[in-house]
Amino acid sequence: MMTDRLYYSDAYLRDFTATVRAVSDDARRVYLDRTAFYPTSGGQPHDLGQLGGASVVDVVDEDDQVAHVLAEPSTLNVGQSLTGQVQWTRRFDLMQQHTGQHLLSAMFADHYGWPTVSVHFGDETSTLDVAASSVSANTLRDAEQRANALVTANHEITVTFEDAARATGLRRASDRRGMLRIVSIAELDRSACGGTHVHRTGEIGSIQLRGAERTKQHTRIEFLCGVRAVSRARHDATLLSNTARLFSAAVDDVPVLAEQLQARVAELERDRKRLVTDLALLDARARWDNTTPDTNGLRRFHVVLTEGAVREHEPLAQALTALGPCVVLITSASPLGVLFATADGSRIDAGQTLRTALAVVGGRGGGSARLAQGSVPDASALANVAGRLGVVTSSSSSLSP
Ligand SMILES: [Zn+2]
Repeated sequence: MMTDRLYYSDAYLRDFTATVRAVSDDARRVYLDRTAFYPTSGGQPHDLGQLGGASVVDVVDEDDQVAHVLAEPSTLNVGQSLTGQVQWTRRFDLMQQHTGQHLLSAMFADHYGWPTVSVHFGDETSTLDVAASSVSANTLRDAEQRANALVTANHEITVTFEDAARATGLRRASDRRGMLRIVSIAELDRSACGGTHVHRTGEIGSIQLRGAERTKQHTRIEFLCGVRAVSRARHDATLLSNTARLFSAAVDDVPVLAEQLQARVAELERDRKRLVTDLALLDARARWDNTTPDTNGLRRFHVVLTEGAVREHEPLAQALTALGPCVVLITSASPLGVLFATADGSRIDAGQTLRTALAVVGGRGGGSARLAQGSVPDASALANVAGRLGVVTSSSSSLSP
């Protein structure tokens, strides 16, 4: 039982009458004698809409038949006549994207020598893979202008049915036999296609080429047509004006201001690092003077942090080990971490010593002979590690982050 596909001859048909021919056992799939609903095929997504008052959530191409999948089990009976309404905003949008793709594929092949390898129509943007090794930003802009000139030229688009054996001038040879449905853009393209298209290129509306990126073998070009191109441009304009507001500037000045801000941040970061080092030197000197060396002349420091990454206090450890024979342990309760540094004259391998101490408490870590870092499973393990490294927590000094 074949479904008569009304969209083949009239892609603009949105309301139609039909007779129910069959309903699936679960009452979710309805088959009609004729339909204006487009099923997912040839890359073009299916229509949505209403059928006899029920919502159509999917349309499936089942060879000769078109299945209308309903949101709720159907109460329709075989033989009943009904009306169907295709959700037009969605369909026309897909017609714009699909026809735009024909135009772009033709233009890329004819002007740039890049045949289209594959096409994907997405919910937000669509993509076209072309056989090009790379596409520069300038070429993309040039191609976008050409595409829009072809839109403005308002070429007529027609559908004909031709015998596959005799059809000539097709952009891509079809492996189908019998009757072919051929979509032609006057002076531009002839392609075998079963999808829905607009009548004239002018109806595609503006075409926006969003970008090009290398895939493994080809180049993927992201594009938007018609209402989508305008919506995306509106979205971009909003983002840009919101950003401009942050700078209290005009949108055209944003790139330069962002660049200046980036340079300023880098400069401040350099200043901050210098200040942290200066502060660490002062802090280290005070701690050194307040600590008594053991009988071997070795000073043992334990810096206890209640919060903050131990790594942030590496400058202090470095400043201390630069002053003379000592070992420095820095522990933090949040995030849990330990840092262990030893001075050149200490004859203690920081990496090995810390790794051994951590292994006992189920922690992990390591590093060089002079500087090592690690983590422990819980805060109670920190005092244990300190004891094993010969620094006693009770005599430790604390440092606010
Ligand atoms: Zn098509």
